[in-house]
Amino acid sequence: MSKAIQAVRGMNDCLPAQTNVWQMVEEVLRRVASNYGFAEIRMPIVESTALFKRSIGEVTDIVEKEMYTFDDRNGDSLTLRPEGTASCVRAGNQHGLLYNQEQRLWYMGPMFRHERPQKGRYRQFHQFGIEAFGIATPDIDAEVIMLSARLWKELGINEHVTLELNSLGSNDERNDYRDALVAYLELHKDKLDEDSQRRMYSNPLRVLDSKNKDVQAVLVDAPKLSDYFGDETKQHFSTLCARLDSAGIDYQLNDRLVRGLDYYNRTVFEWVTSSLGAQGTVCAGGRYDGLVEQLGGKGTPGFGFALGIERLVLMMTSLEKADNVRAQVDAYVIMLGDDVAAKANILAEQWRDQVPQIRLQCHCGGGNMKKQMKRADKSGAQIALILGEDELANNTITVKYLRGQHEQQSLPIEEIASLLTDLV
Ligand code: ATP
Ligand code: MG
Repeated sequence: MSKAIQAVRGMNDCLPAQTNVWQMVEEVLRRVASNYGFAEIRMPIVESTALFKRSIGEVTDIVEKEMYTFDDRNGDSLTLRPEGTASCVRAGNQHGLLYNQEQRLWYMGPMFRHERPQKGRYRQFHQFGIEAFGIATPDIDAEVIMLSARLWKELGINEHVTLELNSLGSNDERNDYRDALVAYLELHKDKLDEDSQRRMYSNPLRVLDSKNKDVQAVLVDAPKLSDYFGDETKQHFSTLCARLDSAGIDYQLNDRLVRGLDYYNRTVFEWVTSSLGAQGTVCAGGRYDGLVEQLGGKGTPGFGFALGIERLVLMMTSLEKADNVRAQVDAYVIMLGDDVAAKANILAEQWRDQVPQIRLQCHCGGGNMKKQMKRADKSGAQIALILGEDELANNTITVKYLRGQHEQQSLPIEEIASLLTDLV
C-alpha cells in the first residue's frame, strides 16, 4: 500500500461533527452583520504581494515572516491573503465603492499565515470581518464595537470576553511621540531584546507590544502616547468612551495596545478571553483613516475589525455552548418491508415539500428494525418515523421519540407534516 498523503501542517479539515457548530456561528455572524446594515463582499484569496507589503507594513510579523508568497507562472509575486482589510480596500478602490460614499461591508473566509501551529493558531484559519468606510466620526466606532458585543451575546459567550480599548492618535501625533519614544529606548537599549532593538528604529511602537517581561519593565517609565494627543483625538476618544458607557459596554483602557498592523490610527480595540490559553485575542480592530489613500484611492476614513472563527468555535466548545446546536438530522424515516420502501420515499418527498426547513433522512440499505433504529439514533434525529406493513394498511405512521421521555405514538399520515413543523 502506498503512503497516505496528509493535510499540510496547520491546515485543518473541518469534519461533519464540527461543521454544524461552524454553521451555527457563521449564521449568527451573517445575521448580526445584516442587523446593522452591513452587506457581504467576497474577495479573491490570492492578491499581489505588494498589496500586503504596502498596507500591513514591511516591519510587521505578518510581512516579515508569516506570508505565503510565491511567483506564479508568469513571474508575478502573489500572496495568499493573511488578512481581509487590505483586499477589501483594494476591491473598494478598484470598483469605485469608497470615495465620497458610505459603505458597510463584511467578509468571511480563509486566511493564511505561516505561524507555529498550536491551539487557536493555524496556518489556514478563518476570519469574519467588518469594514465601515466613509465615516470619520466616533459614532461608527461605537456602533461597530456594539455590533461585536452583540455577537458575543448571541453566541452566549459575552461573560467570557473583555474589551480592551486604546487610541493611537493621528499620524502626526504618533510621529512626534515616536521621536520621544526612540530617544527613551536609546537610553535603555542594553535592556531590550534583539527583536525590540531591531524594531526600535523601524517600527518603535511595536516595542510597546513586546511580550518580553524585561522589555515591559523598561517601558514602565517610557513616555506616553496620550501625552501627545491634540484636542481632536481626545474628543474622538472621549465621545467613543461615552457612547460605550451609555450602551452599557464595559471596557478596559490599555495604553500598551498598539496592534500588529501598521495601518491603524485613533481607536484600536481587542476582545480578549482567558478561556483559550495563550491565544487570548478573539477579535481585533480599529480605525484606519489613511489606508484607502495609501493603497492608491482618494482619502476615505475606515473602521473595522476581524475575528478568528476557530477561536470562537473553540470557546463555544470548551464553554459547552455548542452542545445545544441542532444535530444535522431532525427526523429519520424507517421502512420495514419491500412494499413499504417505495411508499416511504414518496411520503418523505411530500413532507420535504410541506416543511422546507425539515432535515429528513430516509434509511437506505435495508435491514431489520434493530439495525434501522440504531442508525436513526446515530443520526442525532429527534424522532424516528416508522412505516411498516401495518402502518401502510392503516394509513398511519409510528412515531418514536429518540431523545427525552415521550411515549411512542401512532399518528394518521396527514398529521406528520405538522409534527415535523413543530420540530424545526
Ligand atoms: P495574535 O496576536 O493572536 O497573533 P493577531 O494580532 O495576529 O493575533 P489579527 O491580525 O488582528 O491577529 O487577526 C484578527 C483575529 O484573527 C485574531 O484576533 C484571531 O482571533 C484570529 N487569528 C489571527 N491569526 C490567527 C491564526 N494564525 N490562527 C487562528 N486565528 C488567528
Ligand atoms: Mg499574529
